[in-house]
Amino acid sequence: MAAESAVAATALDRLIADAEALIDQAARAHAPAALACSFGAEDMVLLDIVARTKSPVAVFTLDTGRLPQETYDLMQTARSQYRGLTIETYFPKAESVEAYVRANGVNGFYDSVVLRERCCGVRKIEPLKRALAGKKSWITGLRREQSATRSAIAPIEWDVANGLQKVSPLAEWSNEDVWAYVKRFDVPTNALHRKGYPSIGCAPCTRAVEPHEDPRAGRWWWENADTRECGLHPRQHGK
Ligand code: SF4
Repeated sequence: MAAESAVAATALDRLIADAEALIDQAARAHAPAALACSFGAEDMVLLDIVARTKSPVAVFTLDTGRLPQETYDLMQTARSQYRGLTIETYFPKAESVEAYVRANGVNGFYDSVVLRERCCGVRKIEPLKRALAGKKSWITGLRREQSATRSAIAPIEWDVANGLQKVSPLAEWSNEDVWAYVKRFDVPTNALHRKGYPSIGCAPCTRAVEPHEDPRAGRWWWENADTRECGLHPRQHGK
C-alpha cells in the first residue's frame, strides 16, 4: 500500500485531533463516559485513541453469544495489546435467552422482523442498558457514510432512549480515513474485514458484501434496508 501523501497525512492529523478532542470533552464534561466496542474497524480506532491518550473512559463490549470466531480472536488480541485497558464484557441474561429459544427456536430471528428485534433486545439491548447505567456519555464508532440509517448523525447528540450524550468522534470520517488510521498506528483488526465484511455483528446475521454494496448491506440482509438497525442506534427524529 502506498505511503500517506503529505496532504492526506495532514487531513488525517486533523481528523485524529478532532476525535481526540471530542473524546476528551466527553470524558470531562459528560463523565462518566463509556466506549462501546464491537471490535469493528471503527471501534478499534476509538479503542486505540482511548489507549494512546489514556482518556478516563470505561470500555465495554456486548457478547451476544453468537459472535463469529474472528471477533473472539480479536477480543483476545486486544486484551494482550491494550494491557492498560480493561474491556468489560456484558452477556445477555441466561434466563432471557433460554425463554427466547424455548419460544422461537435458536434461529427464530430469521422468521420475522419482530422476532429478529426481540432477539437483539435480549442479546444486545438489555445488556447495553446495564452497561450504560449511570453513564453520562456513550462513545460510538458510527459514521455518516455507513448507511442510509446513519446519514444524519451528529458528532454529539442527546440519546433519548438511553438518557445520555451519544458521542460519535468518527461521524465525518470516511472508510479510507479509518483504514489510514489503522495502518498508521498498526491497529489490530477483525480478520473478517479482509474477507468482504465491512460491518460485523452476530455470525448468523452477517454476510460478506460486494464492493458496490452499502457497507451495512450484509447485516440482516434478508430484511429491507430501512429496518437494518438492531436497536442500539435507532434513528432519532427531530434532532
Ligand atoms: S444480530 Fe442476530 S443473533 Fe445477534 S442478537 Fe440480533 S437477531 Fe440475535
